[in-house]
Amino acid sequence: MTTSPSQPTEIKLVFDEPKQRVKPPLHFADLSPEERKAKAVELGIPAYRANQMSVHFFTHFNDDPDSWTDIPKDLRQTLATTFTPKLISLVKSSVTDDGKTRKDLWKLHDGVLVESVLMSYSDRTTVCISSQAGCGMNCPFCATGQAGLTRNLTAGEITAQVVAAARICASGELPGGATRLSNVVFMGMGEPMANYNAVMRAVRNITTPQPDGLGIGARSVTVSTVGLVNGIEKLTEENLPITLAVSLHTPDDELRDSLVPINSRWKVKEVLEAADKYERKTGRRYSIEYALIRDINDQAWRADLLGRLLRNRNAHVNLIPLNPTPGSKWTASRPFDESEFVRILEGYGVPVTVRDTRGRDIDGACGQLAASEIASSFEKAAEATEGATK
Ligand code: SAH
Repeated sequence: MTTSPSQPTEIKLVFDEPKQRVKPPLHFADLSPEERKAKAVELGIPAYRANQMSVHFFTHFNDDPDSWTDIPKDLRQTLATTFTPKLISLVKSSVTDDGKTRKDLWKLHDGVLVESVLMSYSDRTTVCISSQAGCGMNCPFCATGQAGLTRNLTAGEITAQVVAAARICASGELPGGATRLSNVVFMGMGEPMANYNAVMRAVRNITTPQPDGLGIGARSVTVSTVGLVNGIEKLTEENLPITLAVSLHTPDDELRDSLVPINSRWKVKEVLEAADKYERKTGRRYSIEYALIRDINDQAWRADLLGRLLRNRNAHVNLIPLNPTPGSKWTASRPFDESEFVRILEGYGVPVTVRDTRGRDIDGACGQLAASEIASSFEKAAEATEGATK
């Protein structure tokens, strides 16, 4: 069928699949618990073996078939290859804040690199994960956006980052000893709503009680979006009380059209209305993310406009001092402007917090995840090492 050029083309975002190279191997985290059992049966393996695998993977974070002593030796490798192929391997970890923040660089099966950041606090441990390699949203202040989208991650690849974090927590490697991974935020690389199905499968893996999932409370999972309204609407229908965060960054369409380019498709009003519907359906207050950029979006009049927009909404504002990206002319707001911004919003009764800038010195803070840069420096280092040893 041919489409006449005069016909408007619908912008498809949520289900658009960027060109995949070789597909990542299927992992049982790509499947629902029922599908995992069906897959086992299809291979002539009793369904309860899928349950055993779930216990190893989601309860003990153990993907080493040699230690699965409840499974016959000759079956272990088949199960590992079929259900838990290694999807991510650690390239490098950087640690800061006395070991309380740790950024991990992961290599996927096709050499693509993504990052996650693990942060331990007195009352919780949070992992910030990537849902895509790169990002297609092109926000000019965000390091990930600069390189564009490489590809969507699979549910298995997203889940693997969380399982790796849970394993690190349980191993006692973090200061303070063994702990439980308590929170997951989709605020690493990528736009979660542009990879909706894989993100939702991963969210279910995270929130489903053990042994079929990690059993982390839905309220402790945050999905952050630039404001893809079709994605927010779909999420509203999922009936899962996860926390929605909307990266607004300015209350006016004029500036937002350039700070968050997808605003040319869905305006501030539409995004907030979609978030309101989400709030009404789930009873969950949503977050408004706002990176404060000096003299760009931090004026008192914008705080005032934002206060008016949000005063009758069940939203909370998270102000993030801008983390300047390499080569950017933009920087964080002056302390006075930041505190004025807070004061004005509070004057409207809007709850506000200023986000701490964990991981700044290891480029692990918000918006600084850009594995391609690290990748190229790694490749150079590897080339140099190989050259030297030839
Ligand atoms: N694509 C999603 C999630 C990834 S980024 C989204 O945009 O919401 C997570 C948060 O970090 C977003 O609010 C994003 O706008 C913000 N961010 C990106 N670059 C930043 C920077 N340089 N400084 C501060 N925050 C930034």
